[in-house]
Amino acid sequence: MSATLVIKDLHVSVEGKEILRGLNLEINKGETHAIMGPNGSGKSTLANTLMGHPTYEVTEGEIWFKGQTIIELSPDERSRLGLFLAFQYPSAIPGVSVASFLRTAVNARYPQPDPASNGNGQLKGMSMREFRRLLKEKMEMLKMDPSFARRYLNDGFSGGEKKRMEVLQMAMLRPEIAILDETDSGLDIDAVRVVSEGVNQLAGPDLGVLVITHYQRILNYIKPEHVHILVNGKIVMSGGPELALELEEKGYDWIKEAQVGSSK
Ligand code: ADP
Ligand code: MG
Repeated sequence: MSATLVIKDLHVSVEGKEILRGLNLEINKGETHAIMGPNGSGKSTLANTLMGHPTYEVTEGEIWFKGQTIIELSPDERSRLGLFLAFQYPSAIPGVSVASFLRTAVNARYPQPDPASNGNGQLKGMSMREFRRLLKEKMEMLKMDPSFARRYLNDGFSGGEKKRMEVLQMAMLRPEIAILDETDSGLDIDAVRVVSEGVNQLAGPDLGVLVITHYQRILNYIKPEHVHILVNGKIVMSGGPELALELEEKGYDWIKEAQVGSSK
């Protein structure tokens, strides 16, 4: 049995410049992985490539998800298969509430046959009643105020609220692999706590998580079993949680030096 997500010898170029240079990684459902690396090492490039962002060109290598090669699939198709990337919604949509945005997203991921179409294959989403029940359940689980569902998407959201929105979206879509690209700046401690608590609540045998981060501090809250260090478009070291602690202590320089020492 191969892993849920398999990345093999991945090379990715952005505007003709090679950023990822032979990256290998396997993630199974039920596992939590962290990728850490200095600025510019290609962390966000990996996240964007996994979601199928058109700017990121796979020039070599393979990406398999649930036994299927996905490089040719659109972001939408990947999401329907059960891959989730935080930040995959627009920054602000005036007039669209959190609830109606989530309903559209859930219906896209879980289309259901329309009983009125007499079996001719037409699809419709889940009923309003079922959707409301699900939303209420997830918001209670994440200890969110019910009024949040009526707010306009991202309109005046704080950093913490944007993160809450992402976690709620993840709870509603029930992905099999979730990728969280924690940007290097602007994540205050409240936001870190929100994401971490949410991920810990959603974690379980049916979910694999990849946390991409510059700083060790989010890993004080999310406990990955696997930690990988990305330098210069390649994973140069993998280990357990102790690797993250070592990085916090020593920074990235010793790894870069070890790399220079080992390359021909
Ligand atoms: P990280 O997330 O590890 O800080 P990125 O993946 O964002 O690194 O960036 C790696 C390199 O790829 C950088 O040199 C960056 O300038 C380049 N890059 C990434 N995305 C783009 C883009 N959309 N357009 C141009 N260059 C990009
Ligand atoms: Mg980044």
